Amino acid sequence: MIKDYELIYKEFKDLDTKLIKKLNTLGIHNLYELLYYFPRNYQDRTNIKTISELKEDDYAVVQGKIISASLQNARNNKKLFKARISDGTGILDITWFQMAYLKNIIKTGEDFVFIGGVKRTFGLQMVNPEFKKCVDGICPLKEELLPIYPLNQNFKQKELIKFVKWGLKKAWPFLQENIPQEILNKYKILDRKQAFINIHFPKNHKDLEEAKRRFAIEELLVLELGILASRYETDSKNKEIYEVEDKRNLVKKFLADLHFELTLAQKKVITEIHKELSRGQVVNRLIQGDVGSGKTIVAEIMLLYMVENSYQGALMAPTEILAVQHYLSMHDELDKLGLRVEILSGSINGKKREKLLADIKNGLVDILIGTHALIEDDVEFHKLGLIIIDEQHRFGVEQRKKLREKGIYANLLVMSATPIPRSLALSIYGDLDVSIINQLPPGRKAIKTKWIKDELEKIKMYNFIKKKINEGQQVYFVAPLIEESETLNVQSASEIFQELSEDILKGYKLGLLHGKMKNNEKDKVMNDFKKGKLQVLVSTTVIEVGVNVPNASVMCIMEAQRFGLSALHQLRGRVGRGEHQSYCFLVSNTSNEVSIARLGILENTNDGFEIAEEDLKLRKAGEIFGTRQSGFSDLRFVDIVHDINTIKLVRELSLEYLKDNKGKILNPFMKKDIEEKFKD
Ligand code: ADP
Ligand code: MG
Repeated sequence: MIKDYELIYKEFKDLDTKLIKKLNTLGIHNLYELLYYFPRNYQDRTNIKTISELKEDDYAVVQGKIISASLQNARNNKKLFKARISDGTGILDITWFQMAYLKNIIKTGEDFVFIGGVKRTFGLQMVNPEFKKCVDGICPLKEELLPIYPLNQNFKQKELIKFVKWGLKKAWPFLQENIPQEILNKYKILDRKQAFINIHFPKNHKDLEEAKRRFAIEELLVLELGILASRYETDSKNKEIYEVEDKRNLVKKFLADLHFELTLAQKKVITEIHKELSRGQVVNRLIQGDVGSGKTIVAEIMLLYMVENSYQGALMAPTEILAVQHYLSMHDELDKLGLRVEILSGSINGKKREKLLADIKNGLVDILIGTHALIEDDVEFHKLGLIIIDEQHRFGVEQRKKLREKGIYANLLVMSATPIPRSLALSIYGDLDVSIINQLPPGRKAIKTKWIKDELEKIKMYNFIKKKINEGQQVYFVAPLIEESETLNVQSASEIFQELSEDILKGYKLGLLHGKMKNNEKDKVMNDFKKGKLQVLVSTTVIEVGVNVPNASVMCIMEAQRFGLSALHQLRGRVGRGEHQSYCFLVSNTSNEVSIARLGILENTNDGFEIAEEDLKLRKAGEIFGTRQSGFSDLRFVDIVHDINTIKLVRELSLEYLKDNKGKILNPFMKKDIEEKFKD
């Protein structure tokens, strides 16, 4: 049976090659893809609109009385048939090209329905609509929903409809149910064959909704079961490998030296991870915490714990600046405890690098920090037990996996300051558990945020900034983001730098930082800023993640409308890290509604989770941060913003199913579909 089923994945061969090529342009290569090529919309022929309701580009059904009709000459000797109808709410013009015979059919005073697209030329009109004659005001419209497929210029709707019908017939004998029967029954899910009929050729809206629900669940099951089954496998491979005794002397010493108390939220997350480790469970966890919530120290404590249990640890950061920053602070703090912390960066070469790699391999290095240099093939560990990935959204699933394989599926903590609602996180990062640090260290003052709308406000802002610098505080300027290229970003940062240093902030000490600078140049600027030798730092978004300079209290973001909400929140998080009241200025003269809404959200709240929720409402699902590499961005039948309950449900029932079946997917057709989905 499974052999037959596999036929739906076979590339089309026995069709005309021209047709195959045409189908390929729609992304259709086999029966599976054809059957899952769903209409983007349906034309409801019973839903008659009034003429006054019509808008340009509607595909509509209207009913009206013909008030005039005549054959006319167009240019180049062609005939036009023009009619004008009224339904009491308005008047609509209708034109048919080269259909002169209509003069015998469509006559003044009679009642018709017209079905077609609405265009605007002079006023609204329909061109070449379908029509049906009404008798005594009753129109012969059947309840039916006609599919409208997303097409390109190679296809007409009718042609594709025909082809889908052909595909259904062809696949019918070996199309099998891929949702496990018990799930199907329990959740009253429409069976697969009926669902295909209902999605392509629904009789009514109810049938259609049932089919949509089924395919949403099916799609999520393929994804969740796929992700979770592979996690199940990894976890079971891991069981024997990590033995962690409960030695905690290093951690205790470290905490005794710390000049602050951990927050309850930090303690909770540490306990959570510690529990897993000491039970011999594999840690595979996302730590979400707003900017400044103190994720680093949680990671550091877990690293210490593993080192004391004679494992090595690795910390991967997305940028060189951030890696160096982690290295400097950890080196300082852990050297005292007798640990060897090293950094592997692009600027370490030759003999020095060789020596470092050898030391890592021989287990002489306890904690290794770096950028994606860490995942290069020649980096081998002696006994890697814990991996920390900072600022997760910058890394893809692949990079994560590669690093993990350096240990025998080492324990993994990923830290993200891009908050997304927990339920969504659980689903999106299907293979990760989620911990949340939902509390900031005490004494932090909320950052005051202001949208700077015009020149006058800008002048006031510059005066304010000068005052703050004179008081000894430091300021960030972030140059407008130019999506197209890094080179343009550098240019925009350089221009701002020049403008500020030659004019507005003349006499102050300014530094410039961007991604195209050499590492040692970047380090120098960053260090000068840290030490207070520079008063103002003009930068591209390279400072977006993690940078920590407590004396900086003003963040000024130019053309703020060009950044996403999460990015703005991240940038703002660079200030408010010390004792001073901090400020964030969002400079923008935008009149775009969505942009204005976003800037308003930032003015009103500092809470990253709240911002994330609001952001979700403003965004299209596909744009959500972090979803891009997770399989959730190419969901076709599920909207991850609005179908969150379905996502939750499917995750739960996938977990339950795998538990019941010891990690196996018993339905062979589902198994095949998962294999196909995760093939690449
Ligand atoms: P993020 O979560 O954004 O990575 P960091 O880990 O960089 O935040 O922490 C931000 C700052 O807060 C650091 O200077 C850190 O030393 C400090 N910090 C962390 N935890 C606490 C705490 N419990 N009390 C006071 N300060 C803390
Ligand atoms: Mg951080």
